[in-house]
Parts: sequence; structure tokens; C-alpha cells
Amino acid sequence: MKQIFVKNLLQGEVSVGETVLVKGWVRTKRGNKNVAFIAINDGSIIHSIQVVADLVNFDEELIKRISTGACLAVTGELVASMGQGQSVEIQAKDIHIYGEADPETFPLQKKGHTLEFLREIAHLRPRTNTFGAVFRIRHEMAYALHTFYHERGFFYLHTPIITASDAEGAGQMFQVTTMDLNNVPKVEGEVDYNADFFGKSAHLTVSGQLEGELGAMALSKIYTFGPTFRAENSNTPRHLAEFWMNEPEMAFYEIQDNMDLAEEFLKYLVKWALEHCMDDLQFLNDLYDKELIDRLKSVIDVKFERLTYTEAIDILQKSGQKFEFKVDWGVDLQSEHERYLVEKHFKKPVILTDYPKDIKAFYMKVNDDGKTVRAMDVLFPRIGEIIGGSQREERLDVLKKRMEDMGIPEKEMWWYLDTRRFGTAPHAGFGLGFERFLLFVTGMSNIRDVIPFPRTPMNAEF
Ligand code: ATP
Ligand code: MN
Repeated sequence: MKQIFVKNLLQGEVSVGETVLVKGWVRTKRGNKNVAFIAINDGSIIHSIQVVADLVNFDEELIKRISTGACLAVTGELVASMGQGQSVEIQAKDIHIYGEADPETFPLQKKGHTLEFLREIAHLRPRTNTFGAVFRIRHEMAYALHTFYHERGFFYLHTPIITASDAEGAGQMFQVTTMDLNNVPKVEGEVDYNADFFGKSAHLTVSGQLEGELGAMALSKIYTFGPTFRAENSNTPRHLAEFWMNEPEMAFYEIQDNMDLAEEFLKYLVKWALEHCMDDLQFLNDLYDKELIDRLKSVIDVKFERLTYTEAIDILQKSGQKFEFKVDWGVDLQSEHERYLVEKHFKKPVILTDYPKDIKAFYMKVNDDGKTVRAMDVLFPRIGEIIGGSQREERLDVLKKRMEDMGIPEKEMWWYLDTRRFGTAPHAGFGLGFERFLLFVTGMSNIRDVIPFPRTPMNAEF
């Protein structure tokens, strides 16, 4: 007999009276001398299906072995439910136990564990309702992301995870080597990278953008979506050492086009979540964040506020707010500043542009004032920066001057500079931190809770 998933059952794809086979893990078991009620979840949907087992039909020993966490296959008749909270249930005819879960040692025996505790058992937490919901939403958002770009003629470009360029991430990159760290080959006291795997030092990527630009200079519209690594030692609820980044890069786009795309993209994803993940969102809304669904709805209807960094500094200085970090023209904004603008001042998402060039990367296009660059950061409620992007500097001489000023060796970036040497074009792009975005969509407050296996300083167990 063919297995049916709980989602399909609850969506009415089978009629009452038919015999069905479900497989899944026991969420709860209760009952009395005559009957056992077993809630089974197979991860296809947040809801469990209730299995009713009349004890006269089953071996007592078998029923005893069933407890929270056990894995079962149940065959039975789909019947209308008398109980509250579900429309149908299964009247069990046959129960097979794939695997028991000893109640003495199974860590998820009880409900209501803290998220902190669940992080310590990341190998089992997908079996909770919360993480089931989060990971289903994560999947839907990845699928929506690809759909969004595909519908608009973008190509998914796979940029490398191992890179020999460290122009962007100096100081916060993980090194990749096959050298024996106990016996590192040296020449005149210096590490001899000629003896390493690639014949030069290599690292894990901090961004696919530079390679993405190479793609955009041929395919016009590309995007990357993959793991990104940063060894920044920031133990915050918004930073991971391994996270997923999505980076579209478009030839012939200027900063306005870039902002339009970012805004349309974010709204598309949030709308998708509201249309496809309502069960899971409702669960997270009720349990963690009573304003979640309202907040999601609020961003799809408003026009994001757009203003320059200079205007934002002015607002912050006149706000009368006490900030931990002082606000002056030229400083990098902290998330307390970003959140003030979004949550208190404008009460909607904000796109800030034209940042001081000294706090932004070398590849951003320098404005005519010579002081600011065509950067754009999208700031979201609860999160702060969710997207960082810019129009790129396409003028070879200006770019070379910037690199020189910032101490980035031209020699190592010859391939990047070639895009400006041969058929250069205006172009722009941005990077979305996928987990930052998931924090917004799920209402979770710690970034470790929106990725299945979080990597943070001193933590890489599973
Ligand atoms: P922040 O100042 O918040 O550390 P950043 O300026 O270093 O961010 P970018 O280099 O612009 O970020 O990266 C693009 C996007 O990637 C950011 O807008 C953010 O959403 C995400 N991001 C950056 N660092 C991390 C991290 N360590 N963990 C998760 N997401 C990150
Ligand atoms: Mn950072």
C-alpha cells in the first residue's frame, strides 16, 4: 500500500471511509484502558494526524512500546473525527513500529523546551513543531527566490566557495589549506604557499559578488545563492560564521533600478510566505511573536522610504534619542540607529543610499561629490540591515585609484579589472543575507534558529 502524507490527508485528498497508510513520528500518546490516541507527524505539515487504536485489537506490549519520538507505520480507516481540533482521524487496523524512543532518554519527551536547549540538540530539533515550521518556510523562501529571478530572465551562476582573492574579506576569512599545520613548509621564515594545494593561499568565500560581476558582464542578469563564510568573531543574534547569501548582479542597472529590484524582490518573497506558509506562520505568530503576520502584511503594501545617508544622520542627530554609539557624519550606522529609523521614525522599511566612501567597499561607484559612493542598504524592522548593495564603479581609472587608496593590490585583482578594461558597462547588484531575511519572515529572534546547523565561534558540533 502506498504511503500518504499527513498534509495530503488534511487537505482532503482522501475520502472518509478509505484505508490509508501513514508513516511518521509520535508527537504525543494518551488514552485510557480501552483506547490509545497517538498523534503522528511526518513533517509534511505542522499538524499531526490523530490515530485511534482500540486496545482490544492490539497486543498490549506493542502499544506500550509506543511513546513520544517513536517512528510508526499505521494502516487504518480514515474517519470523521469526534474530537476537537481535527476534522479527520485514523482508526488503526495495523501498527508497525520502525523505531522506539526510550522515554527515559529521549530528549524531546516533553513539550515546551527553550530554544537555547534545543540549540544544544540541533540534531533532533527538526522534530519539534517550531523547527519543522522554520525549515519548511526556509525551503519555500529558497524556492520563491529562484522563481522570482527565473521569471525575470536572471541566470543562476555558481560562484566558487574556495577563492584565492581576499580583497573583500581580509581579516575575516577562513583559510583553506592542505598543509600540515604541525609542519608548515617555510622559506626564509615565511610560509611557503607554493607548497600548498593551489600553489597560493586560499580561503572560503565571503561573497560571490566579484565573480558575479564577471557573469553579469556576459549574461546581463545573474544571481548567486550559496554558502558564505565569515570568521568575524561577533557572537551576536544576527551573525553566523556560515550563512547563505543571495547576490543578483545586473549589467545596465543603475542605483535606482537596483533599489527597485530589491524592493520588488523582498515584497515578492514576503507575499509568497503569506500565500504558501500560512499554517506555519500562524503557529509561529501564536507561540513567539503576536505581531508577526501583521508585520509581514505591512511591508508588502508600503513604498519603502528612500533617503540618503546624510539625511539619515540628520534625522538621527535631531531625534533626541540616547544611542550607545554616537552619530556623526562618517560613522558606520549601528543596528540601534538603523532600527530607530525603521521602527520609530518612518515605521516602514528604509533604503539608505550614498554612504561616505570611507566606510564602504572599493568597488562602489564614486559620486560626483567625491565623498560618497552609490551604496544602498535596505533596513528592515527588527533586523536592521537585511540587504547591502551598490552601483559598481565601472570606470577603470577611478576604480584603480580607489584600490590604491585602500591598499588593495592591483596585481591580484587583474581579472576583476579586466571587466573594466574590456567592454565595461554600468552595473549594480546587492547581497541579501538569507538568514537575516528568515529572521524577519519567521519572527525568530536568534539567527541560530533559522539555519539547520548553525556555525558560530566555538560551535560546530553537528
Ligand atoms: P553587518 O554590518 O550587519 O555585519 P555587513 O555590512 O558585513 O553586515 P555585507 O558585507 O554587506 O554585510 O553582506 C551582505 C548581507 O549579508 C548583509 O546585508 C547581511 O544581510 C548578511 N550578512 C553579513 N554578515 C553576516 C553574518 N555574519 N551572518 C549572517 N548574515 C550576514
Ligand atoms: Mn559584517
